[in-house]
Amino acid sequence: MATNRTFTMIKPDAVKNGYMGQIIDRFIQNGFAIKALKYTHLSKEQAQKFYEVHAERPFYGELVDFMCSGPIVAAILEKDNAVNAFRTLIGATDPAEATEGTIRKDFAESKAHNAVHGSDSDENAAIECAFHFSANEIF
Ligand code: ATP
Ligand code: MG
Repeated sequence: MATNRTFTMIKPDAVKNGYMGQIIDRFIQNGFAIKALKYTHLSKEQAQKFYEVHAERPFYGELVDFMCSGPIVAAILEKDNAVNAFRTLIGATDPAEATEGTIRKDFAESKAHNAVHGSDSDENAAIECAFHFSANEIF
């Protein structure tokens, strides 16, 4: 059964391009409650660990370097069927393939610099929320 939480990051491209506020507003306007929020800068070790599942992919090194190239916003969001609802809101990995009106369509630079992360399963959402937030940072 789907749980009601997902994890997101606003990636360094979107922060650098000044879209942090507009993207957080998209979350809220689309019915996601913000349960935790943090403006931070991933270390290389954190980025490597977070995207460990992609370690064998050819883009892993580029992905890690990008994710620690500047500050990010990490958040826990709550809504019914959060993981799937959020992936619908952000759109396809490649903004060129993303549906009109999705966050990646409107704010991403490219497939590699694609503005936001969204958990891909309830299991990974729980792991990713715990990776970035302790219990006393979740409201
Ligand atoms: P995310 O996990 O960040 O929400 P996603 O689930 O849509 O994205 P994944 O397949 O998990 O996509 O890939 C993780 C991230 O790796 C992508 O968001 C993108 O930043 C980067 N990436 C994926 N494919 C490529 C590629 N072919 N070239 C460069 N970067 C890529
Ligand atoms: Mg993914």
